[in-house]
Amino acid sequence: MAITKNESVRVRFAPSPTGHLHIGSLRTALFNLLYARHTGGSFLVRIEDTDLPRSKKEYVDSILQSLKWISIEPDEPVVFQSDRSQKYNDVIEHLVKNRHVYKCFCSQDDLKKRKEGLEAKGAYRGYDGRCRSVDQSQEGPYVIRFKVPNDIEKVVVSDLIRGEIAFDREQIEDFVIARSDGSPTYNFVVTVDDADMKISHVIRGEDLLSSTPKQILLYKACGYSVPKFAHIPLILSPKGGRLSKRDGATSVSEYTKNGYLSDALVNYLARLGWAHGDQEVFSMQELIEYFSIEGVVKNGAAFDIEKLNWLNGLYIRELSAKKILELIEKDVDSNFLSSCNKFDKETVLSLIELYKDRVKTLKDFVEIICSFESLPQDYSTSGMQKWVNEGTEEIVEKMVIKLSEIDAFYKEEVSESLRDISKEQGVKFAYVAQPTRLALTGTVESPGVFDLLVTIGKEESIFRLKTFLDFMRSKKQ
Ligand code: GLU
Repeated sequence: MAITKNESVRVRFAPSPTGHLHIGSLRTALFNLLYARHTGGSFLVRIEDTDLPRSKKEYVDSILQSLKWISIEPDEPVVFQSDRSQKYNDVIEHLVKNRHVYKCFCSQDDLKKRKEGLEAKGAYRGYDGRCRSVDQSQEGPYVIRFKVPNDIEKVVVSDLIRGEIAFDREQIEDFVIARSDGSPTYNFVVTVDDADMKISHVIRGEDLLSSTPKQILLYKACGYSVPKFAHIPLILSPKGGRLSKRDGATSVSEYTKNGYLSDALVNYLARLGWAHGDQEVFSMQELIEYFSIEGVVKNGAAFDIEKLNWLNGLYIRELSAKKILELIEKDVDSNFLSSCNKFDKETVLSLIELYKDRVKTLKDFVEIICSFESLPQDYSTSGMQKWVNEGTEEIVEKMVIKLSEIDAFYKEEVSESLRDISKEQGVKFAYVAQPTRLALTGTVESPGVFDLLVTIGKEESIFRLKTFLDFMRSKKQ
């Protein structure tokens, strides 16, 4: 689909660098990106670092790194709020001049007492506006509050996902736009920045919906045009409550380290709260082509790690063993290959190929291959019960002899030897194959037995079969 440049669509992702990028925020970034790419608009990133004590450079780097990992890159240089104090001061000055704001000298203690008094009567509606009429030239510490106009009944947010939501005038107190140390607050800076960056569509989490009426009032007071809003429903836990760390609410960097592929995570998050018919698997190109704000659901979407695992497995199977190894070393364990002391690179690549259909994450490869490096620690009891009987010892003895005689240890030769044994012993092939699997891996759930034998090689295979023989014999005594 050819997309022509659309100057009128400008969206932004505005993370606060007070922690690593969380997957919920990544979904917000993704929806913004998809909307920009679908419409031919621009996607921007703004770092909201006005909360200086909590904002850290390490988090800025980590957030930008996570976005890059997922190929979410802004079309213009990243904007930092910490670079924009002069602009904020200028706008505050303008608002003071036009009397849209006022200095509030009420102390925290006074505010608390008045609040408690009103709450006792069930009449507390936020700040009571006392300083609207006090002498503005007096000395003393003050905050700056926005003067919510008296002549409005309500503020209506026209949300592209949720429709019209009306907030009564009484629900909106005269909110603070600058603290007593002069630092501007979120509602104020976000409005100034979105206007300056010419943001046309504010697409963000539903948790910010309650701030939107305040921002709309600020847009109007500053003489800015109001952008369109789309508040995305939150990601819920599988049970429907708030998503917790245990449910998977961790940072994107955790997912990277745990062996999730960026394409799988993008695919999963895109479908979390957005749908295009029943389709589950999407390439980035398809997501860009099909994405629409109308396709975003109104209700919260439940996080389902099993579905993410399924998709991740699907994407893993699309990759070559070489690419998988490269990703393991880049994202999961940089020492992976060097810590495999028994297997060389070729063997590791073959094992990756063999186990590709069975894993959910890249980390599974590390676990499987590392544990496969050493002899099985024990042999699955159910496997032993089902596949090992009085004839097994002889079968394994024969196998040791036959495999030792093979010069070219290739799949065809190995399979011929095993089939011969099954014929000679008059047993079904499974009674040869399954004990071999047990001997090599400790379980009967492994890839094809011929592939396994060839991959770990003649010497190691025979060593494991002999060890298994010893084990069976020791059990008999
Ligand atoms: N910085 C805010 C946050 O991380 C988002 C602000 C916005 O999108 O308006 O929650």
